[in-house]
Amino acid sequence: MARTVEGMTSGDFKCRCCGACCRIKDGIVRVSEAEIARIAAFLGKSEEDFIANETEVAPDRKSLVLKSHPDGTCVYLTADNLCRINSVKPDKCRTFPFEWTNPGSAEVCPELSRHRLCFPKL
Ligand code: SF4
Ligand code: SF4
Repeated sequence: MARTVEGMTSGDFKCRCCGACCRIKDGIVRVSEAEIARIAAFLGKSEEDFIANETEVAPDRKSLVLKSHPDGTCVYLTADNLCRINSVKPDKCRTFPFEWTNPGSAEVCPELSRHRLCFPKL
């Protein structure tokens, strides 16, 4: 089994589907060219239309990011906390929290918070 954050294994983590990680006020989800192509195709849009209407320039101006609502909620999060583009979501979403976290992630994610009891460095 793959080792993940601070000794946690992927089998240890049971996502609660709370959507908190998709509602981070200053969070951004960068999208690569390949991710733009696959999300646009999934949504039945041209890449130009998708870029113009569903992405914006990252604060550091180094890439495009998915749009979010003013409160930080990703525009693809549904009212029941599901990802509307789950099957094609960006790698950043796909790999959290198994391949990366931020210093405040355990404050955002209740399941990571629970694991912090077992893996105090998290
Ligand atoms: S693309 Fe999906 S998983 Fe990623 S932040 Fe948006 S709703 Fe969450
Ligand atoms: S915050 Fe954690 S438990 Fe909630 S949806 Fe995200 S990964 Fe799952």
